[in-house]
Amino acid sequence: MEKNSAVTFYNTAFYSQFNLPCEAVSLEDWTSLIHPEDKCHFAQRVGAQRERKDLSRVVSRYRVRHKSGRYLWVEAEGLIVSDRSGSYMVGTHRDVSEEMLLNEYLKRAAHHDAETGIYNRQKFMQDVSVLNTDHLVITISMFKLNHIFRHWGSDTAKRVSAVLSSCLEASLGTEYEFYRVSTDVFVATYSKQNTSLSANEALIRFDKALQHYCDENGLVKARLVGVGMFNVSDDIQMSCLELILNLSEYMREKGCNVLYEGETKYTVDRHYLLRDSLGEAVECEQITLAMQPIVSVYTDEVVSYECLARWHHPMVGMIPPLEFIPQVEQLGLIHQLGLSILKQACQFLKAHDSISETRPQINVNVSAKQLVSKDYVADTHRVVCDAEIRPERVVLEITESHLLDDSDVISSRLNQLVNLGFQLSLDDFGSGLSSMTSLFRLPLAQIKLDKQIVVDAMSSRACRDFVTYLATHAETQGIMLVAEGVEDEQIMKSVRAMGVTHLQGYGLHRPMPSQYWLEYLES
Ligand code: C2E
Ligand code: CA
Ligand code: CA
Repeated sequence: MEKNSAVTFYNTAFYSQFNLPCEAVSLEDWTSLIHPEDKCHFAQRVGAQRERKDLSRVVSRYRVRHKSGRYLWVEAEGLIVSDRSGSYMVGTHRDVSEEMLLNEYLKRAAHHDAETGIYNRQKFMQDVSVLNTDHLVITISMFKLNHIFRHWGSDTAKRVSAVLSSCLEASLGTEYEFYRVSTDVFVATYSKQNTSLSANEALIRFDKALQHYCDENGLVKARLVGVGMFNVSDDIQMSCLELILNLSEYMREKGCNVLYEGETKYTVDRHYLLRDSLGEAVECEQITLAMQPIVSVYTDEVVSYECLARWHHPMVGMIPPLEFIPQVEQLGLIHQLGLSILKQACQFLKAHDSISETRPQINVNVSAKQLVSKDYVADTHRVVCDAEIRPERVVLEITESHLLDDSDVISSRLNQLVNLGFQLSLDDFGSGLSSMTSLFRLPLAQIKLDKQIVVDAMSSRACRDFVTYLATHAETQGIMLVAEGVEDEQIMKSVRAMGVTHLQGYGLHRPMPSQYWLEYLES
């Protein structure tokens, strides 16, 4: 290119692809073919190079219109050269369309989910840095993708994402980014500048839109989707994806939508705080025992102590077993915890025997997940033998709902345990999940009446008759019948009149640490 902006092309074959005049081509002719989006940048580069008389080589890429109308990517390499007659710009052009298209394709593939075409987790991780307190995040978690799969077939993911985006648009408008961050978790982010809705209103609107869609298409929404909503706050931004995955898991577990605010935020955070420290708590035997005596109606003697798991969390304080046992089960640690509880219970019996003449039993709760473990019988036996406790002094409490789950395997395990000398107790009998089958099918040593049936028997004649029948059956079969939840004198009298032989409850003794009972015995 000369000073007067005249341009001379030497490689005629290359330039014949473009609509350029045959002779006296000017810089303007070339510029007129450049893509509008690239023009400004091109002009700046040429201007700068000319002004500075920059002697270094300058490379730039821009799009130039081909004769056919489509654009080619061209790489231009230019250099200012000077001779006696002045300065010129010399350079080359190269078609780099294929390379650019390939790069674009790779970039797109890296940021998009192959199945649905929407943004993927990588893109979300990139964009998360620009999310601020001005943003609202919607987490949409699919519960039963296989159910929808049966309904919609192989393009399920695509259809799900299409349905979700139309529900987002119908309820919240079009100004959102939409991502698939795992197989069954979708995320939409909104800038609050584009919506006047609060998180709660947004959640309600979106949920309604989804409900409407499901009604029209014969899908049961409650069985398919959970929707979680939260405002991005400074402490959330760093761990946004973690929160999204936690929320979606939480929604699946609880089967509900979640507005991550106030009380719910506290509950969800607590859930995951506990989960994160449970592994260590089980590993390091931080979960200890509270023991509650089971007492004979006739002699007032303590015949056994029920061992109840207690977790004193260093930050949260005392956590009830009904909160952490399900989590221990989900984490696959219940077998390990069960053995730790049994070990502590056996240590208590050893200490007890060294103080007292009496030889009570221990009652230990066993969850179904423990019973399905193939090592359960051998490990349980080993722990008891190592502690030099006879298996006959260990009563294993199981609940009926567990027994029905996987009856063949569990029945055989229970029979093996009985053959080794362990005693079986049917826990929570009458709590609603029980049937009479196990009463006759299992080699039971004990039945524990649930608190609820004990309370109901106070006011219901039919219930009293049932407990009386059970007491007769237990007596003839040599089974110990224990009433739980004996909170006061009145309940005590009432269950006694029905023939119940053993009692457990706050009215007699509250669950206390093993050390308490040992000191109690010594005093
Ligand atoms: P559960 O086996 O039915 O245990 C009896 C529960 O009733 C205990 O609650 C006990 O503290 C409570 N209780 C005792 N007397 C009374 C009373 O008079 N009135 C009332 N209202 N309640 C009374 P806790 O300790 O909170 O345990 C709850 C459940 O957690 C247990 O119910 C058991 O299912 C489970 N659990 C506890 N420890 C373990 C364990 O080591 N392993 C397994 N798998 N489950 C456990
Ligand atoms: Ca129990
Ligand atoms: Ca019980």
